Amino acid sequence: MRYYAVSGSAARQRTDCAIVGLYESGTLTGAATQLDAALGGRLARFVKRGDARGKAGEVTLIDAERGPCERVLLVGLGKKDGFGRKQYKKSLLAAVAALAKTGARDAVSYLATEPLPETDAYYRARLAAEAVGSALYRIPAIRSTRKPSPPALRSFGVAVPEKDQKKDAERGLEHGRGIAAGAALTRDLANLPANVCTPSYLAQQARELARQHASLKAQILDEAALRRLKMGALLSVTAGTEEPAKLIVLRHQGGPAGEAPVVLVGKGVTFDSGGISLKQPPGMDEMKFDMTGAASVFGAIKAAAEMGLKLNVVGIVPACENMPSGRATKPGDIVRSMSGQTIEVINTDAEGRLILCDALTYARRFKPAVVVDVATLTGACVIALGAHTSAVMSNDDDLAAEI
Ligand code: MN
Ligand code: ZN
Repeated sequence: MRYYAVSGSAARQRTDCAIVGLYESGTLTGAATQLDAALGGRLARFVKRGDARGKAGEVTLIDAERGPCERVLLVGLGKKDGFGRKQYKKSLLAAVAALAKTGARDAVSYLATEPLPETDAYYRARLAAEAVGSALYRIPAIRSTRKPSPPALRSFGVAVPEKDQKKDAERGLEHGRGIAAGAALTRDLANLPANVCTPSYLAQQARELARQHASLKAQILDEAALRRLKMGALLSVTAGTEEPAKLIVLRHQGGPAGEAPVVLVGKGVTFDSGGISLKQPPGMDEMKFDMTGAASVFGAIKAAAEMGLKLNVVGIVPACENMPSGRATKPGDIVRSMSGQTIEVINTDAEGRLILCDALTYARRFKPAVVVDVATLTGACVIALGAHTSAVMSNDDDLAAEI
């Protein structure tokens, strides 16, 4: 995907598809009004007839017939005084999802020329590129039949109100593209089934990332190395499986050597059966997602590399399976972590904290400025907060607020 920034009137910009907004009151945005004039009042007629109502996320595809563009996507922005960051991104996602079903190879969005509180040209453009990447994301084609055809869209422009904002917008688009690339990697890794996405597969992906990006280095610790480090907690979780565990270290060296890094730790249980404390069968297939923390760390590191962040970032991923077998850890077993503390395992399904504590102890050697640990840690979180809200716990309120 090629991204670019434009300024000037929507009435003159040539594109396969112009994306303009409509508020719930039936008010066309500034850019939509310009385009409407060029199209002889075509958009206003659509609104007047009640064919477009401006409800948040509503998308109407209009054949432009003549004028600077072939089509217009009229996107509902909701209430004008409620139009903020969240609604902006939602509108973009809806627009691009609709756009992907058309034959348009190019599109220009004018949604960022509307007033949007607490944002600048950089940020609006970045959100646009993130939204395009997100809306065009497709799950890796594992199915053997009927592979979905890729969208025709090849380039995407973002309009800014002033010409001197184009540079900032271009930087935002470049960063948004990097973030979207990281997010796509996260989703790919999460979506892959556990028989494909094993700890060894994650290790191989880390090596692959390091090959692709000059700023990245990958280091893989095998079980012999984990034993030498005395990671008894992590080793107790992987004891029941045939798949070898890996501790994956991915480093993005973007800052000065010696500068304290941001350390990201991600839970990489590629399949969590619960171990001897076996889970109930319904929904157990979803336990392939117990490595989403790891996938998030991979995505964040990829994004850091793509964006060329002038920052040292270390990703640490303890990767293993949690399976029952004759060698598996049993309820009541006592193991010793790398930190030297002993742990009595009451329920082998509470394995996440065991692999993470050793990874966190290992993280100390990097003398981090900040450590962020990401995990699908416990069902208690869903019980407490429901299915949409994530929990953040921190010993630093400012950092938590920033995240
Ligand atoms: Mn578990
Ligand atoms: Zn788990």
